[in-house]
Amino acid sequence: MSLDLKDKICIITGSASGIGKAIATRYVADGAKVVIADLDLSKAQETADALTKQGPGSAMGIKMDVTDENAVNSGVKEVVEKWGSVDVLVSNAGIQIVHPIEDFPFKDWKKLLAIHLDGGFLTSKAVIPYMKKQGSGSIIFMGSVHSKEASPLKSAYVTAKHGLLGLARVISKEGGKYGVRANVICPGFVKTPLVEKQIPEQAKDLGISEEKVVSDIMLGGTVDTEFTTVEDVAEVAYLFAAFPTNALTGQSLVVSHGWYMN
Ligand code: NAD
Repeated sequence: MSLDLKDKICIITGSASGIGKAIATRYVADGAKVVIADLDLSKAQETADALTKQGPGSAMGIKMDVTDENAVNSGVKEVVEKWGSVDVLVSNAGIQIVHPIEDFPFKDWKKLLAIHLDGGFLTSKAVIPYMKKQGSGSIIFMGSVHSKEASPLKSAYVTAKHGLLGLARVISKEGGKYGVRANVICPGFVKTPLVEKQIPEQAKDLGISEEKVVSDIMLGGTVDTEFTTVEDVAEVAYLFAAFPTNALTGQSLVVSHGWYMN
């Protein structure tokens, strides 16, 4: 069996930054046609242009707020009109908001759940008809160790990331006979803007130093106190995208330097 994404049409949400951008880079390096779907069109297009320059695959940028059903549907339509179908969806867009639960503003809870869960649902709903029609497709949700494990201050995030496991399992059962697969990647802490922002916030909320947040809270559960890298996560995203059969569906893989073993 060989793994190959050459000419595969891959939509990656939240891919103008961080983990999504690294996945886009990995896919383009394998010859894929990648859609950089993000909130800001000029950032998405800038990322896409840089990746096209690197080749051998290519990329296009589209503006998509994953919480907006019309924006998701019209973004997917634009991709299908230009490139014909969709082979891979990486539902990756995400944010983090941390507060003790009794101080968690309800509007922030709803915002976080909308991006992670409504986003995963709406993008899947929009691409699945094309995948079913062509008899194949791979949907990848960006979960987290927090899909399996809890941490203080992260009620909304932990709830959302656990929810994605359920969504992936249902899609894998509904999609099985059409060759439509769904899996979840569960990274540990990766140094991206999303995590850089949390370090001072958690230090303040927990009343400890920023160094302690990194060594004890973020990396205390790993086997070697090392951050997971965007490239580590991108390699797992490559495996899930390129794996050609239903042998790999409905699963979640933790990539975390040993933080949370199951
Ligand atoms: P990041 O902040 O670098 O990138 C997130 C991207 O999502 C940004 O480009 C942002 O513009 C985009 N985005 C936000 N809201 C959006 C919306 N409504 N519609 C479309 N795009 C939107 O963060 P990251 O660390 O690369 O996170 C990517 C994913 O990985 C998230 O789902 C996050 O929960 C998950 N994750 C991150 C870590 C980590 O340690 N960094 C660990 C586990 C899981």
